[in-house]
Amino acid sequence: MSLTRLLLARPVEGTVGERQRVTHLVYVPEARNRALLARACCGQAFGPGDLELLDGVAGMPCEACLRHAPINNAEGVLTDGDLIVSRLTGLEAQVELLAELVDRVGKRLSQATITFPGEQSNVEG
Ligand SMILES: [Zn+2]
Repeated sequence: MSLTRLLLARPVEGTVGERQRVTHLVYVPEARNRALLARACCGQAFGPGDLELLDGVAGMPCEACLRHAPINNAEGVLTDGDLIVSRLTGLEAQVELLAELVDRVGKRLSQATITFPGEQSNVEG
């Protein structure tokens, strides 16, 4: 089984709507197919000049690409897709933790009794 090499790329500005400029996982075209279309894991095909290569995920990742990315191959080497998925899983856990903390703070605030300056002295006096 050969190593699947993937690139991170998104459509060049102006070729598609801004919402469609998601980061795709694109198979590295074989040398003999360089002039042809580049295919993303999600199935979309891109022509020469349609994509800009990225060093990392910029903006929204293409969810379909993440779902269809080849995972651990025979060599046990992580592909870029695996790295992205593991990174996203880590981020998801952090977001869940943050949501829980925000929820706790929200509950504390709703239970807290807010005393304004002056109110206390009125009660005592
Ligand atoms: Zn895609």
